Parts: sequence; C-alpha cells; structure tokens
Amino acid sequence: MASILSGREYAREVTGAIRKRLEGVVSGPGLAVVLVGDDPASAVYVAAKRKACRRAGIKGSVFRLPPDAGEEAVLETLVALNNDPAIHGVLCQLPLPPGIDRHRIASAVLPEKDVDGFHPVNVGRLWRGEDGLVPCTPLGMIGLLRHNHIQLEGRNAVIIGRSDIVGKPMAALLLRENCTVTLAHSKTADLPHLSKTADILVTAVGKPGMVRGNWVKPGAVVLDVGINRLENGALAGDACFAEVEAVAGAVTPVPGGIGPLTIAFLLQNTVKAWERLTS
Ligand code: NAD
Repeated sequence: MASILSGREYAREVTGAIRKRLEGVVSGPGLAVVLVGDDPASAVYVAAKRKACRRAGIKGSVFRLPPDAGEEAVLETLVALNNDPAIHGVLCQLPLPPGIDRHRIASAVLPEKDVDGFHPVNVGRLWRGEDGLVPCTPLGMIGLLRHNHIQLEGRNAVIIGRSDIVGKPMAALLLRENCTVTLAHSKTADLPHLSKTADILVTAVGKPGMVRGNWVKPGAVVLDVGINRLENGALAGDACFAEVEAVAGAVTPVPGGIGPLTIAFLLQNTVKAWERLTS
C-alpha cells in the first residue's frame, strides 16, 4: 500500500514559515491578482489565494475587470501594477476570456514581479538552470519530493501532460534534479507501457481515473496534478486512486495533494520577489 504524500500538511508548514518570516515586518510583500471576467472557478481560486495571503501576512489585492474589458485594458492594469512599489508579485488569473492572448499578457508582467513564472525571461532562466521565478505547481511538487526525502538523481521520470504551467516546467525542474525525463502527451504511443517505466510519475491531464493501477511500476512515486469535478460534485485526480494506491510506493491524494502546494508556493514566490525588489 502506498504512503500518502499530503500536500496540505506540507503547504501548512510552508505558509507557517512565511508567516514567521514576516512577523514584525513593516512594509511586507504585496501580491496583486488580476481577474478578468466572471468565470466561477477562477473566482474560487482567486478567493483562495487572497485568503492564503491573509494567513501568511502578505497583502493580497484583487483587480477585477469585466469579461469584455479587452486586451489593452488588461495590459494597462499590468503596467500600473508593474510600476507600483507596494506590489511585488503580479499575476493574471487564467483562463482569460476569448480575444485576450495569454502569451502577450504573460510577457507584460515585469519578470521580477512574475510570481507565476510565465514570462519568457523566467521560462528561459528555468531551462538554462539560472535562478528566477518558477511556476508554482511544479515548484510545489519538487518541494514535496524533497520534503519527503525522495531520491531523484538517476531515476526515470515520466510526466503526462505538456502544458506551459505544469508539464513543461516540471520537466525542466526534474532534469535539474538529474532525473531522466520523458514528457508525454495526447499523441504519445503506448502510454500505459511508458508510464510503467517511471520511478516518478507526474500526471497533469484533466481526465479522471485515466491512470490505472497497471500503468504504475510497483513502488513508484505518483504525483497527481489533475483536478476534475465529477458528476456527483466530488473532486478527483487523473489517477484511479484505489488501483494506484495498491501498487505505488507513494501517491498524492486529490483533494489535499498538489492543489494546496500551488498556493503555498505562490506565497513563497511573492516573498522571494519582495526580498529581491527591496534588498
Ligand atoms: P492542459 O489542460 O493545458 O493540457 C492537458 C495536457 O494533457 C496536454 O498537454 C495534453 O497533451 C495532455 N493530454 C490530453 N489528453 C491526453 C491523453 N489522453 N493522454 C495523454 N495526455 C493527454 O493542462 P494543465 O493546465 O496542466 O491542466 C491539467 C490538469 O491539472 C487539469 O485537471 C487542471 O485542473 C490541473 N491543474 C491542477 C493544478 C493544481 O494546483 N493542482 C494546477 C494546474 C492544473
């Protein structure tokens, strides 16, 4: 039976350490979240980020724009936040309404305030192995692996899903840890066979129950990034949890796995940006 890697518990530790770090600080970090439109899921994520900021002692502000605001208005908001000395982290909640180019938006955030790590400068720094701001979900996963003393060097890692926010940056981070990395996607041939070669299996697809027990190498570490809302309202990951838990050495649950880490490492990125901008 696999051990359960609790992201929730580790996220609490990370947040607690930040709160302690900021105790007694007069001009602490400020995080600005730009929310365009009225997507209900985005509103929930933004509220969770704000609440986490409050808990950690970070000043979180939300800047709301209507769904038809248009790209220029979003860019103008970002320029104002880039120039605001009380703001140290800036992000634009995804997804954006149709007609707004997320690459243009990501490029408009000052790299030093880019706490999502989506600016091309930070993407380049990550792949070159330089220090920069790294996307929060993969950063949280590496943190969780290290926190649980999971050996990475020399191990085979398979990542399913090649998004810019999870799969690709996770590949870069695992390469940095000296894993041998395979980045799989919707066109990958014989995914069950490939997955079974993984010592570290990361799944970021968005298909509930896709990863079955017989896709998993006995003893492997499985990080399930997927967040899927089932018809009965419950949340599920990409892994068929009962089957995977019976084979893997360790597995993250959904909920309570990678989700809370994403927010905790957003706070950590904000503190890092603040320290650099004010030192
Ligand atoms: P995405 O939705 O942009 O892309 C999905 C990826 O899955 C693509 O690269 C695609 O090639 C791959 N894919 C699709 N069908 C596949 C198949 N049948 N076999 C293999 N690969 C397939 O990806 P995303 O934005 O990284 O989101 C993925 C999932 O992770 C979603 O459920 C999302 O909600 C979740 N997510 C969770 C967190 C978190 O904090 N836990 C953060 C980001 C995303």
